[in-house]
Amino acid sequence: MPHNILKRQIEKSIQNGKLNTDHLFDLISETYKQIDDERNRNDRSSRLLAEEMDTLNANLQLAVSDLKDKNIMFKAAIENMFHGLCMFDKNNDILIWNQKFLEIFRLTEGAIKPGFTLYQCISSSPTYQQRGDVYCRGLAAEMASMLTDNKPKQFITKLPDGRTLRVSHQPLDEKGSVQTIEDISEKVSVEKKMHHMAHHDVLTGLSNRVLFNERLQQVTQSNKNSMGSSAILCMDLDHFKEVNDTLGHAVGDRLLVEVADRIKILIKAGDTFSRLGGDEFAIIQTGVNDIQEVKNLANAIIEEIRSSFYIDGNEVFVGISIGIVFCGEGCKLKPYELLRNADLALYRAKTEGKGVFSFYKEEFSYQLNLRKKRETELRLALSEKHFEIYYQPQVNSVDYTIVGAEALIRWNHPSQGQVSPADFISITEEIGLIAPITEFALRTACVDFADLTELKIAINLSPLQFRKSGIFEMVEDVITEYDFNPERLALEITENALLVDSQATLNTLEQLKSLGISIVMDDFGTGYSSLSYLRSFPFDKLKIDQGFIKELGYNNEANSIVQAVIRLGKSLGMRVNAEGIENKNQASLLKLEGCDELQGYYFGRPMKITDFKKLLNKKTKTTQYIPGLAG
Ligand code: C2E
Ligand code: CA
Ligand code: CA
Repeated sequence: MPHNILKRQIEKSIQNGKLNTDHLFDLISETYKQIDDERNRNDRSSRLLAEEMDTLNANLQLAVSDLKDKNIMFKAAIENMFHGLCMFDKNNDILIWNQKFLEIFRLTEGAIKPGFTLYQCISSSPTYQQRGDVYCRGLAAEMASMLTDNKPKQFITKLPDGRTLRVSHQPLDEKGSVQTIEDISEKVSVEKKMHHMAHHDVLTGLSNRVLFNERLQQVTQSNKNSMGSSAILCMDLDHFKEVNDTLGHAVGDRLLVEVADRIKILIKAGDTFSRLGGDEFAIIQTGVNDIQEVKNLANAIIEEIRSSFYIDGNEVFVGISIGIVFCGEGCKLKPYELLRNADLALYRAKTEGKGVFSFYKEEFSYQLNLRKKRETELRLALSEKHFEIYYQPQVNSVDYTIVGAEALIRWNHPSQGQVSPADFISITEEIGLIAPITEFALRTACVDFADLTELKIAINLSPLQFRKSGIFEMVEDVITEYDFNPERLALEITENALLVDSQATLNTLEQLKSLGISIVMDDFGTGYSSLSYLRSFPFDKLKIDQGFIKELGYNNEANSIVQAVIRLGKSLGMRVNAEGIENKNQASLLKLEGCDELQGYYFGRPMKITDFKKLLNKKTKTTQYIPGLAG
């Protein structure tokens, strides 16, 4: 059977019942030609298709290798992240995690696999395993609700082993979520430590002033809401400075720790006990129902501190003074006002004789203001030339001739007139003005007595000046500057100067004496250890305290003491001065007893240099001294 095409071609080539072979060949050739054309066309398109395929293939290769690169980079990035990372799909099954993630949860490589559920992940971690299966299931349920939360958030969580994690949750639309996890345990502990350090005293471990103030703030706040009453107790050790100066700072520090320990056991839970600095402590006693509770606490503390401490083989005695402010319901005082008032009460307790407690009273505030004003005025007094030196004659007991004078400072207050040194010397000592005042007295005396070459001049030194260096240098510089004969200069010190660090004080006295200056023991007989001090240094002169002189002639005991002191001084080779002589009787008795030098209103009150010189001239003119004239 011929092919359909050939059949049609044969049919078309039969003409008049005969086969026209030429026509048939033409038709066949035509057909071949058409087939050739078609085949050619097909070949071209196949070639083009193949080329296209090649290009596509090449691009695909490139994309795959690019993806591979990106994948490597992505892997490197998440593996090198400082934080743990994990990604969950929308069913909360884990997809991706990094090494850090495994480390944080103490998971070994291969412990979890992609597609693990939350519960599987949690229970693979030994950190969670130790809490048991129920715990792990509960946690998985809890976390699932968190993972489906479609808001980004950050939170801090604690692992069962105590570590702290900071987790950042980032939802990925409908596709799941990604978490980054940071182990902040170290950061938290450092922060905790820093916070502790900023709020506690290193030495005693007690809370410090910062924390105390915060608590005080809370107390005043709760008082406003009438939550009960509190008391603030400010405490300061008595004689702590002496301990520090004589036994050294190490002993001082140990003492502070032991004091803190003793008080700690008296404080009830919830109350605040702080070291505010130095030897200052404070308590906030809360929930006080009766003022007696505050008094009981204060008494217990005073008793506790009164008994001696044993430190490095030393028996140490100190005391404690307490100032208290009561802060009852509706108290409107601010924290700093409460503290100031407690401080004022403490100041009062100190001046009342130490080792006692004192409650704040309104009047303290008034006194404090006065005191502050005095301090400011005193600071100005030197530069404003409000100080003046008066001279009180000292006479010999033989013929009452003036042999010298004691320089005594006067403060000419611009509005209050002359103020007694008894009222301001101690303040100048406390505010550090005593050194310039002594220098002023010495300089003035050097000038005023420059031409009174027969006379000696006595200057008073404060015991406090021996605690600081520089007294010797100051005296030496001034007398050199004025070319003042050191043998005409006497320095009066009281026993208090020898109370602390007596060896250093004795060395300074030795140095001064070596210049030719006389060293005088003032107010002899008023201290506890007068006799032992007398043996410790070769004083040039002893001044019997005026307290004994006042009683002279009336009181047998005073008579005997004065007699004994005069003899004692003489036996030790010292001159003896009696001061505070106000009448002839006293003068005669002292002369009789052999006292060398007399001083007192009877012979002349302290006076200006002009009056002192007039008195001298009067005496020279008449050669007869009239006691009390210059008074
Ligand atoms: P002080 O050194 O014992 O001085 C003697 C005090 O007794 C002086 O008081 C003097 O005026 C007073 N006085 C003298 N004779 C009599 C008398 O017959 N009867 C009475 N009732 N008193 C008499 P003043 O001047 O008020 O000085 C008081 C204290 O102030 C001095 O006691 C001294 O400790 C201190 N002082 C005065 N001037 C200075 C100074 O320049 N430097 C230092 N550090 N202290 C000074
Ligand atoms: Ca004196
Ligand atoms: Ca005196």
